[in-house]
Amino acid sequence: MSDENDKRPEWAPKEGGEGFTSKVMAGVEGGHDGMPGQKARASRRPIVKRKRLGIDDYERGILSGDRTILGRAITLVESNAPAHAEMAQELLKRLLPRAGESVRVGITGVPGVGKSTFIEALGVHLINRGHRVAVLAVDPSSSVTRGSILGDKTRMAELSRREEAFIRPSPTGGDLGGVTRKSRETIVLCEAFGYDVVLIETVGVGQSETTVRSMVDFFMLLMLAGAGDELQGIKKGVIELADALVINKADGENERAARIARNEYTRALHYLAPATAGWQTRAHTCSALTKTGIGEVWRVVERFCERGRGGGVFEGRRRKQVLDWTLAMAEQHVRDRFYRTDAVKGLLDIVRGEVARGETTAAVGARRLLDAFYDALSKS
Ligand code: GDP
Repeated sequence: MSDENDKRPEWAPKEGGEGFTSKVMAGVEGGHDGMPGQKARASRRPIVKRKRLGIDDYERGILSGDRTILGRAITLVESNAPAHAEMAQELLKRLLPRAGESVRVGITGVPGVGKSTFIEALGVHLINRGHRVAVLAVDPSSSVTRGSILGDKTRMAELSRREEAFIRPSPTGGDLGGVTRKSRETIVLCEAFGYDVVLIETVGVGQSETTVRSMVDFFMLLMLAGAGDELQGIKKGVIELADALVINKADGENERAARIARNEYTRALHYLAPATAGWQTRAHTCSALTKTGIGEVWRVVERFCERGRGGGVFEGRRRKQVLDWTLAMAEQHVRDRFYRTDAVKGLLDIVRGEVARGETTAAVGARRLLDAFYDALSKS
């Protein structure tokens, strides 16, 4: 932050710190950007092109703890360019033996429940206990809304200032399948880098909770006490995915209501199948704002890991996740290929119409599409 070119105005308070925004940049000699004279043009700093990194640079950078390189490696795995994909896969292959050592925790909840406040409080708590924390976000809607509301550094100001934390917003540009791949690969990079806790934030948008559940060890649902919240945000299906329900904002006047809600949920949870075999999901309370109960929530995660590791549940889940992922990618690939095939595209509307009017049965319609697909495949 203390760039030598930054000049603090003399009226700025000395104790203003870096948060004090009034800094002025050193001017460009000989004119300003709007009206560049000859001299200004000559004195402009050359545009520094970022050095292109080779695979060894990425690997070395990550293993030696260079956060800039980690950021660029994530950009590489997030790229949709085929040339980048090859290099990204090679890098991941090299780093895979170094990954897998973290605890992966998914955190979901409706907007406003306090996810980012909670992640900030939990992240700082963990760092103070010697952990290194990566925060990622999975937000498939961000490609529509252009700009994620999750994993936003400005919403986690304290955590983002810590050396031991790394915060990365959701990858954009793509369907849930694309976002899932990118997020899973980013976890590998972060683990190889040395982050031993990976927090993955998501918001209840369609399938995103299920997706995040499929990439984490422990899944946590943040909730609010009080009428209406149960109805608006908390779908039974999501509760069934959770290893812990955490009722946030248990502070001030809300504390009593939060305790009552916790007891009610704990009772209700006895009637649901647990998300993880051998683990009874329970409800807890905390206040992300006052940081009360954060340590207790983390102890729940630790207990879960101790038990899961001992009984092999933990490893079993990870093995199943990676196998499911492998097959999901293969299926996705076949599906994409099917819908991209010209012969299928040409036939799709015709078959749709015939089936809708009852002129063709579903089985015959499907057969025609598949014949067209296999025919095109055999010619390609
Ligand atoms: P998100 O949309 O789920 O990420 O929620 P935020 O973390 O942005 O929080 C939404 C609002 O709730 C903010 O105004 C927070 O200050 C507030 N908030 C978050 N956690 C708590 C809490 O534990 N207690 C209280 N009283 N307010 C909180």
